[in-house]
Amino acid sequence: MALEEYKKKRKFERTPEPKAEKGREDGSSFVVQKHNAQNLHYDFRLERSGVLVSWAVPKGPPEKVGDKKLAIRVEDHPVSYKDFEGQIPEGEYGAGQVEIWDKGEYETLKWDEKDDGVIEFVLKGNKLQGRYSLVKTKGYGGNKESWLLIKNKPKD
Ligand code: MN
Repeated sequence: MALEEYKKKRKFERTPEPKAEKGREDGSSFVVQKHNAQNLHYDFRLERSGVLVSWAVPKGPPEKVGDKKLAIRVEDHPVSYKDFEGQIPEGEYGAGQVEIWDKGEYETLKWDEKDDGVIEFVLKGNKLQGRYSLVKTKGYGGNKESWLLIKNKPKD
């Protein structure tokens, strides 16, 4: 995991977004940012190994058990991005308003990106709580990585 792609896409003299600095290695926070860019979407980010592993969720997180929402994997973001809210200026990458929609801690149940692409976790946020998973799917959206964000049944 690295922040080169994050850095490459942004001009830090123009955008108020955090610089591409790696954070502590041991955090386990998550954040969901409502991003009113060209297309409104929700950015779903899980802190892992000093970065925020990130997905763009066009329709927002699933609300009911069994719901699945498309989640496009995007570049890792710096950990400090979890506190970012503000306006990305017109003409810059991701131009538009960013606001924190939910945040908290999470617990990893499974993290497998090598084989199938299955990540299972428990969210402890204000709006999002309980078991969710991210599952990699095949071949949607050209060369972009497409995943599904799924709300799972609570464990008995
Ligand atoms: Mn975004």
